Amino acid sequence: MTPATDITEVHVVGRFAPSPTGPLHLGSLVAAVGSYVMARRAGGKWLLRMEDLDTPRVVPGIADDMLRTLEALGFRWDGEVVYQSRRTEAYRSAMERLLGAGLAYACGCTRSEISRISSAPHGAELVYPGTCRDGLPEGKAERALRVKVYDELIEFDDLVVGKYSQALSASCGDFVIQRADGPFAYHLAVVVDDGEGGINQVIRGADLLSSTPRQIYLQKLLGFPTPVYGHLPLVVNPEGTKLSKRENAVSLADRDLAREGWTLLLAALRFLGQSPPPDLNGAPCTEIIGWAVKSFDPARIPLVPAPLPLY
Ligand code: GLU
Repeated sequence: MTPATDITEVHVVGRFAPSPTGPLHLGSLVAAVGSYVMARRAGGKWLLRMEDLDTPRVVPGIADDMLRTLEALGFRWDGEVVYQSRRTEAYRSAMERLLGAGLAYACGCTRSEISRISSAPHGAELVYPGTCRDGLPEGKAERALRVKVYDELIEFDDLVVGKYSQALSASCGDFVIQRADGPFAYHLAVVVDDGEGGINQVIRGADLLSSTPRQIYLQKLLGFPTPVYGHLPLVVNPEGTKLSKRENAVSLADRDLAREGWTLLLAALRFLGQSPPPDLNGAPCTEIIGWAVKSFDPARIPLVPAPLPLY
């Protein structure tokens, strides 16, 4: 069991880590509000990180656009913005530590080879069967580096969801931490960035809940402490299904934030189970954020995905 750090005894360092692959959307708005308020209400810091490692998907100009949008919505961050694309040396050195300790290895399997052997039910994540664990078979070229996982249950106590556990060997097996031809994998980068950034509180969307055990596992291997996690409900459409790109892309950048920033913030706070008073309608964004920092009650964050009505 990974003990949740008692946040009352630690100076909270939270963060918001959007991927600049498209403009901020409803889910990122909720993650920004949730992570900001949870850090600030504890008197803590809130750091910003651009997860721009997946360069083919990164849209030029979006990162700056996100910063302007966050500022216009009244968010203020601490320190310099971290760009993952500038941190490959840190990821490389973590990778070398794992390789040096015999905890990572080269794998030559293609996706179709893995799905032929793996018994994952249709649609579920493929469990890597360990084919290359003891060395690349003859004639196979290296396609990825994987970290070895052992038969261990990873458990943590989520601030929103409660107890959550996963046996990595059954849910994913040895997982990829770098593609031979490409960037370091998200899990490795996040763990190194959160660890080196001293982040001890991670509030983000529930789409990442099932990734968290892999990240906790890497933290243990690399000697980083495990942050407190809180996974916020997903924003869905009124039918309860995933938002299409168009529905979700409330491009905050396209909106007149001076005029309607308040509607977005109040909608996100209501989505998170809070009851902002009616006199905040039309208020400056900084005033709404200030109210939220003082009055936010994490016990009211709902568990279930829901739509996010803007008006
Ligand atoms: N970059 C991820 C996203 O935009 C979030 C990663 C994280 O919060 O750990 O969905």
